[in-house]
Amino acid sequence: MSRRQQRKLIAQATRDLEDLLTPGSTYRDVCEAVRTLMERYMQRPVLVDYATLQDITGVTALLADGRCVVVVAAFDRWSQRLLVLLHEFAHYLLGHMPAAVDPQDTPHQIAPHLSPRLVQILASRSACVEESDEHAAEQLADELFERTERRLEQEPEDEPPVSDSLARVAESLRAGLNSRGPRR
Ligand SMILES: [Zn+2]
Repeated sequence: MSRRQQRKLIAQATRDLEDLLTPGSTYRDVCEAVRTLMERYMQRPVLVDYATLQDITGVTALLADGRCVVVVAAFDRWSQRLLVLLHEFAHYLLGHMPAAVDPQDTPHQIAPHLSPRLVQILASRSACVEESDEHAAEQLADELFERTERRLEQEPEDEPPVSDSLARVAESLRAGLNSRGPRR
């Protein structure tokens, strides 16, 4: 994929994601919207599994039967889960190859609830990813997350505009909420 095609793909994905959201959407709704988009773009079934993970927050794998599985750390907050899911989606949009899972690794695996052994295998493979790829995915995920937040916070059109001082209070509250811990 050329850089130009890639920029087009990212712009398209951003628009498609925004189209799936309304001001009433919850972070959980957005996670489902992202899964739907991944399915549409990858043209294969995409399963998202929220599980307890060690050392990593998320990983994507292609199963031998053609399905894609995204394992996301089961954070309490759906906003954190969304950020991880967007990070995995970003890897796809940037053309990074997900780990392929050997049929021998997954004799009876069907998400949800991959075995801890399989998750460990996937984690060790994702540890080989280039640092620059991680950085690019992180940036794109942040961008998609911010756009999503803006979309969720949009005022319905018939509401009176918020006064300037109120808007500033909301802004500073949001800045406080946005401070997040490190992630991969
Ligand atoms: Zn990553």
